[in-house]
Amino acid sequence: MTKSHHCLSCGTEIQVANSGRPRRYCSAACRQAAYRARALVAAAADRTALAELAVRLRDNADRLWLISQGWSPPGDGTALDTLLTDTVAVAEEMFRLGDGMRDGTSPD
Ligand SMILES: [Zn+2]
Repeated sequence: MTKSHHCLSCGTEIQVANSGRPRRYCSAACRQAAYRARALVAAAADRTALAELAVRLRDNADRLWLISQGWSPPGDGTALDTLLTDTVAVAEEMFRLGDGMRDGTSPD
């Protein structure tokens, strides 16, 4: 006896034998299309994260410039250390994300 369900990519009905692992896609083309769609979503999420990190880096650069001009950030004197530590963390995260994007799809 068989039962059926629908391809997760195109919706075509797939007959499934009772034994064995059910196929999620009707064809290799649909499996590929689903993979590409997931990769596009992941790349878009990486670009959003990268843009947010760029804004944070820009904010840090502005504060560092102000400090270089003699401005003292409010607080207990650890603001510069915190700022530099955060800037390094942002740069490392941007590098990691950029590395993944170079391995994957181009942004356009
Ligand atoms: Zn399909």
